[in-house]
Amino acid sequence: MGVHILDAMAREGFEEVIALHDRATGLRGFLGIHDSSRGRAFGGIRRWSYLDEDQALRDCLRLSRAMSHKCALAGLAVGGGKLVLLDRPDLDLPGAYRAVGDIVERLAGRFYTGPDVGTGPDELAAVAERTTFVTDPGPRGPGELSEATAEGVFQGLAATLRHLDGEEDWKQRTVVVQGLGEVGRGLAQRLVTRGARVLAAEVDVARAEAVAAELDVELIDPATEYDQRCDVFAPCALGGILHDLTLTRLRCRIVAGGANNVLVRPLHGDRLHERGIVYAPDFVINAGALIRGVLFHLEGRREPVTAIGERIAGVLVEVLDRARAEDRPPARVALEEAESRIARWRGEA
Ligand code: NAD
Repeated sequence: MGVHILDAMAREGFEEVIALHDRATGLRGFLGIHDSSRGRAFGGIRRWSYLDEDQALRDCLRLSRAMSHKCALAGLAVGGGKLVLLDRPDLDLPGAYRAVGDIVERLAGRFYTGPDVGTGPDELAAVAERTTFVTDPGPRGPGELSEATAEGVFQGLAATLRHLDGEEDWKQRTVVVQGLGEVGRGLAQRLVTRGARVLAAEVDVARAEAVAAELDVELIDPATEYDQRCDVFAPCALGGILHDLTLTRLRCRIVAGGANNVLVRPLHGDRLHERGIVYAPDFVINAGALIRGVLFHLEGRREPVTAIGERIAGVLVEVLDRARAEDRPPARVALEEAESRIARWRGEA
């Protein structure tokens, strides 16, 4: 069934959703602004081969709302947005990204954009030809964004281990990483360096082999990652992977990874809690790139990744402590806190 867009916007508090179309380049997509009540919304550009426009719109809505939650909990004075593009073989990539740049420029600073799945330095360079409201991937920009994310996820994971066991004790830990892309590889590298055992599932065989040649990770068949006995399951591929079918297979004590929207629904966070598995909310621990980008755009600061990781771990510890004190799922606690902050900004609370 199609998305009832106005109902969805009203239900989830969206400001605006713009449908994008450019005949010349084949550009098709959506730009969602969930919240710009503090002046600006931030969100990257996802390019993906969506099955249809409904799926793309749904993703745009979910991702932009999650960005608002991420900004709110990270204590950043900005809101969330997202741009999704429907990928297809005949898309004129540089042209489409330049057209995106024109659209972002017309928003005159209400929306800042940057990388996400399918959008790397080359694509961002095309956007930057038309607007300055985009993260510069080069030396004049804020620095490596995925590194900031990987460090935040790593420090979040370490904080969760300390919360559970009082120590990190890496040499005794097994971590299963799903996806060895920018974030998954960065996380695996940090874990291996500290002596943890890392099992990794990656669907791109060439990528998997390249990372395994460089880092001491044990490759496992994709889709077997859910069944591995381990301390931590770290989803670093796409979202929507924890649902009724996968959740019961998990044999870990912690779920902590970089992917956005890992839980299909909030009730899947409740199920993890019922099973005694601690879930470090994705929008808390994967905020590293956002923090780095926002601090650079708003304050001109190039924040070191370790400082970003410490900031993320600090927020996570507050969430985990409250969740423990109230015996509630951490994802619920984090979501509630984010929504009450957004309501305060909007003057609704
Ligand atoms: P990426 O595209 O570099 O890496 C994703 C990797 O996952 C790819 O290598 C892909 O082949 C692999 N993959 C896809 N499906 C898989 C599956 N079912 N099993 C195993 N591997 C699979 O992306 P990234 O930048 O590393 O981002 C990873 C996740 O983290 C995404 O969900 C992204 O939205 C989220 N995220 C990234 C950042 C960032 O700074 N890059 C920030 C916040 C959130």
